[in-house]
Amino acid sequence: MVGAELTAEFEKYGERFTRALELVERGAVKLHRFSPSRREIWTVVGAEGDQIILESEPFCSCRDFHFRVVGGNTDICYHLLSVHLAKRLGEKYDAVDFTDEEYHTFLFLLLQDLSRQVLLTKDKPDGFE
Ligand SMILES: [Zn+2]
Repeated sequence: MVGAELTAEFEKYGERFTRALELVERGAVKLHRFSPSRREIWTVVGAEGDQIILESEPFCSCRDFHFRVVGGNTDICYHLLSVHLAKRLGEKYDAVDFTDEEYHTFLFLLLQDLSRQVLLTKDKPDGFE
């Protein structure tokens, strides 16, 4: 069942799928769970640094998502794909538990890292990483 699904996605997404699988194998997919609110934030350490993934939106903070997915050229970036894969391949991700008191500090640090990435890459062409 899962095998057929994965083959179909590989055929659909090609290089994105291969890169997503590499991320999963590398242990780059992380789930941050906050309690007692049960908020969940996924992060994936990709080529440019940590990306925030909100699975339910769906949303990813990477350039590919911004330029290609929002632009309508594709429906998923390889980070989002890696989260889907990690879940289906038998929870191949690291889950880290936090308390709600830590939520704002966590977000602050993550956003700081993201704004650094934006500054570093703002003059690069909007290519596929
Ligand atoms: Zn992404």
